Amino acid sequence: MKSQISQLSAYQPGLSSEALKKKYHIEGQLYKHASNENVYGPSPKVKEAINQAADELYLYPEPNAPELQEVISEHYNIQKNQILFGSGLDEMILIISRTLLANDEKVITSEGTFGQYKHNAIVENANFVEVPLKEGAFDLDGIAAAIDDETELVWICNPNNPTGTYHNHKAIEAFLQKVPSNVTVILDEAYAEYVTADDYPDTLALLQTYSNIAMLRTFSKAYALAGLRIGYLIGQPELVEKLNILRPPFNVTRVSEQAAIAALKDQAHLEKAVKINHDEREKFKNLNSTLKIYPSQTNFVFIETEQSQALNDTLLKNGIIARAMPNGVRVTLGFPEQNEVIRNVLENF
Ligand SMILES: *Cc1c(COP(=O)(O)O)cnc(C)c1O
Repeated sequence: MKSQISQLSAYQPGLSSEALKKKYHIEGQLYKHASNENVYGPSPKVKEAINQAADELYLYPEPNAPELQEVISEHYNIQKNQILFGSGLDEMILIISRTLLANDEKVITSEGTFGQYKHNAIVENANFVEVPLKEGAFDLDGIAAAIDDETELVWICNPNNPTGTYHNHKAIEAFLQKVPSNVTVILDEAYAEYVTADDYPDTLALLQTYSNIAMLRTFSKAYALAGLRIGYLIGQPELVEKLNILRPPFNVTRVSEQAAIAALKDQAHLEKAVKINHDEREKFKNLNSTLKIYPSQTNFVFIETEQSQALNDTLLKNGIIARAMPNGVRVTLGFPEQNEVIRNVLENF
């Protein structure tokens, strides 16, 4: 067995509502605000698409979801051979790591970001380097300075999970100018659809100048299909071709492919969810609280506090399941009523 596996543990999901109610003796209903799911749900067209796809369940899926590939290539005006699908971005991060990382090659990202970059780097026996966050955001200068001859891969999570902060087009482009062209930069944009800032990077435009980058998107967050597991990479055909060698042949189901097509085609539904989320997010600005809440471009907010466990427990007693981290609490935005409960807790904590 790979000896590095012993340093790792399996993903720990939070306790279920039922288990939490018992443990904390909670009577009322608990609301899940721990995994950045979109409580408003997917387009109603998705259900119809799933019903139709159910007629062909006995057939293996076509490799790399060709119908969805077509729809996405039209949506972004890119070539089909620039797109690769994963069973969620979790699998895409695994495929990228498995393909690109050889023993002791260096992978750089930030501290306080999505955990799967590190998990997969350790599996591949790579040299994983974390640069501290700066004001809750990726320190792009620090990361650029950490790049050396051994560096193979850089992960930029934009906006960042769990802090919700983002870097704009200028900042990302200035960073890319400093990265040698033999280093691959993956921009994980899992929350891009939720961004309302108008200076958010146009990563597809950057892709035309910087051939060493790729962009990740998922149907799990704003499109509200987390339960179906589908995400994708857009990059240069050469990179896609290499990654495709390690993509498990039938990793995306027929049902997921058709559901994603229906979700993508219903942009009006997406826009509604994004608008509600934006309006709810605004209400977390200027709270009457001394807690530090980072400005968010996502469907969650991060509250920095040394008393993260205490804040998490207080939220829980008020019916809100959040996610405690060592230096703060991440809480997903949900329906207005629950968001109001969250704000009251923060103002009184
Ligand atoms: C949720 C998330 C993912 C994984 O999403 P999938 O459901 O596996 O598509 C990847 N990156 C970030 C930053 C995320 O927050």
